[in-house]
Amino acid sequence: MYCEQCGSLIENGEAFCSNCGAPAPASKAASEPAPAPGPVVQPIMQADIQPIKPAYEQPQPVYQPQPAQPLYPQPAYQQPAYQSVITPFEPQKNNVFAVLGLIFGIITAVFSWLILFNMVPGIAGIVLSVIGLTQKNAGKKGMATAGLITSIAGITIGFMILGIAVMSDS
Ligand SMILES: [Zn+2]
Repeated sequence: MYCEQCGSLIENGEAFCSNCGAPAPASKAASEPAPAPGPVVQPIMQADIQPIKPAYEQPQPVYQPQPAQPLYPQPAYQQPAYQSVITPFEPQKNNVFAVLGLIFGIITAVFSWLILFNMVPGIAGIVLSVIGLTQKNAGKKGMATAGLITSIAGITIGFMILGIAVMSDS
């Protein structure tokens, strides 16, 4: 350190200046080395910031093409999502014949003992079930098949009951 009064060098450990006898600045002995590393740290900070600035500039052109690219895949994903959702719903709504065919088929089978009267719902059940089965891209084919089976079974049972009645009379 240097003396505050005369500016001569005071070696570490000396309490007074050897030239003028002034007390050595003990408190400033700790403060003087502190600003010394200060200018050493500052060029390091500046050196760290400078390479960071081009690092920020580099990702910016990377982010600019990114928002443009996701815009194209997003409508591409929505289009197949709508197509896959619409196709299953449309056949279920269209194939009303299969539902009506099964309803008439059940009526025919339940009222098969009415013999000739069940011919009306029986024929209707067969026709509606066949139309339901022949519907293109339509669902509920199982219901149409069940309607066709119940309609034919109901009419068959009706004719069997009629035949038994005729044979029992004769
Ligand atoms: Zn001195």
